[in-house]
Amino acid sequence: MRDCIFCKIIAGEIPSKKIYEDEHHLAFLDIFPASKGHSLVIPKEHHADIHSMSAAQYGAIAAVAKTVADLLQGKLKSEGTTIFQMNREAGWQTVFHIHMHVIPRWEGDALHKPWDIAPASEEELSSIHALLTE
Ligand code: AMP
Ligand code: ZN
Repeated sequence: MRDCIFCKIIAGEIPSKKIYEDEHHLAFLDIFPASKGHSLVIPKEHHADIHSMSAAQYGAIAAVAKTVADLLQGKLKSEGTTIFQMNREAGWQTVFHIHMHVIPRWEGDALHKPWDIAPASEEELSSIHALLTE
């Protein structure tokens, strides 16, 4: 897709540090890493986000993220792994070609959870549960 940074990376028009590639996917280092080895997994076919692709296509990206997570963990001896996948502006997505962040983690590293933990009321949980299961 024209004007998509990640399509340009796939086309070789923008350089990237590739760490994994198969017929349909690419993984490369994030240039603004949250930790050492922070990588992005993308499909070679342009899809904007989770809502514009099939479950099977999404699952294939997740499978590559698992492969990349193992690669990073094995090489970097990281102590944990966090996977983020943002969708649409309200979901913090900034590059609108779907991608999974695979972030190697270490005890005491600089990342912190993006939400504050607070309990929901029973009423709140029951009402959303009813809505989702009716
Ligand atoms: P998101 O906010 O989930 O859409 O993440 C987009 C990610 O792409 C950010 O973490 C950026 O640092 C990363 N990024 C943007 N441009 C490039 C690039 N040319 N090469 C590698 N990573 C990039
Ligand atoms: Zn694209």
